[in-house]
Amino acid sequence: MITLEQSTHLPCEYKYPVHSYSFVISMYSRLFRLPSTTRRTFHTLSALNMPANHRKVTIIGSGPAGHTAAIYLARANLEPTMFEGMMANGFAPGGQLTTTTDVENFPGFPEGVLGGELMDKLRAQSERFGTEIITETISKVDLSSRPFKLWREGNEEESEPTDTSDALVFSTGASAKRMFLPGEDKYWQNGISACAVCDGAVPIFRKKPLAVIGGGDSAAEEAIYLTKYASHVYVLVRRDQLRASKVMADRLLKHPKVTVLFNTQATSTHGDGSLLNALTIKSTISGEETKLDVNGLFYAIGHEPATALVKGQIELDNEGYILTQPGSSLTSIEGFFAAGDVQDKRYRQAITSAGSGCMAALDAERWLSEHEATE
Ligand code: FAD
Ligand code: NAP
Repeated sequence: MITLEQSTHLPCEYKYPVHSYSFVISMYSRLFRLPSTTRRTFHTLSALNMPANHRKVTIIGSGPAGHTAAIYLARANLEPTMFEGMMANGFAPGGQLTTTTDVENFPGFPEGVLGGELMDKLRAQSERFGTEIITETISKVDLSSRPFKLWREGNEEESEPTDTSDALVFSTGASAKRMFLPGEDKYWQNGISACAVCDGAVPIFRKKPLAVIGGGDSAAEEAIYLTKYASHVYVLVRRDQLRASKVMADRLLKHPKVTVLFNTQATSTHGDGSLLNALTIKSTISGEETKLDVNGLFYAIGHEPATALVKGQIELDNEGYILTQPGSSLTSIEGFFAAGDVQDKRYRQAITSAGSGCMAALDAERWLSEHEATE
């Protein structure tokens, strides 16, 4: 027998205009003996002139932010739907943590937890309270009016959206920029990382020489952080000056365990087949290449928030992050709430993402109830 969940995924659901949708639903309802409540829901939607996949609240993105929002929204009986993506922005459903091994700083796991396992647990918790999770990527949105219009990947050319939603929680995350140096694929997460706070304490880096690439505040912060574990930290800066703020730059340059190598680029990575142990570095002035023995390489050359979908429709900062009102998930568009790394260039941690997902859910819940009350 067809279940309620299956019935919301009828194969023709969004291909038909509203007038024929009623007809299609009647046919399906009779054919598959849908429960009367399901039929009533469908007919109410069609009477309201809503597309088949209209929802009160939809979450785009499936990292710690999206799943925390889902848990809160589902427990508030708002029946959220999450689009978890299909390698969206280069990540499997579950987001950035699916690309790492041990997560040792997420509260509640004194022994640490594998990134993938943590995300599986969060997904199960979202589902437990009734979140509908769809393994598809949203590839186009129209935020110009409400309900917001969404198109699933492969349907961008259609004039009608595949889905609509009164409120949106946007938690599409971000990705650290990498240089993809020769050898990097082999040693990624085996000596090469893009997050010192996440990986710096790992035994392979302890009491070992490490390198950080970048000259901004992140590079300065990460290099200083790494001095707690490393025997020495080399900072490779491609120009003759740092981009970091004066206070951070001073702190970095004065640190006894840090050497800043200006006008220096890394050109390749080397190792013993399982772990990184050296870099080839090149002077941008003379072109001379030398070997630098390091057991760790940390990229700090910036992050790319996944905001291409909403660029030009919502206020972003000059680096492309969604602007939220301080202390909230509210954005420049009413009913559109942003959470996680997509709106946070400062902390970028799983726990802060989860926290902001909670904020987005509470903000959305309040907004929906106020909105319903005034309608
Ligand atoms: P993300 O985790 O980035 O997830 C976003 C998800 O949304 C992705 O699955 C993506 O595919 C999906 N998505 C994007 N666009 C769409 C779309 N259009 N439609 C549908 N889905 C979409 N933090 C820690 O606290 N501790 C650690 O130990 C730690 N280790 C890390 C190790 C690595 C290698 C990396 C890269 C990061 C690490 N972090 C760690 C940082 C942490 O992973 C991030 O801060 C956190 O995952 C951000 O969560 P998020 O929910 O904002 O988004
Ligand atoms: P950023 O300011 O954009 O700096 C990126 C650095 O990486 C620059 O030095 C850049 O060099 C270098 N770089 C970029 N691509 C490179 C490449 N391919 N090869 C070598 N070097 C490369 O990024 P960020 O440091 O992540 O900072 C982002 C924002 O967050 C900034 O506004 C920063 O102030 C803020 N932030 C603040 C704090 C803090 O206040 N504690 C901490 C972290 C971040 P060039 O200079 O030559 O372009």
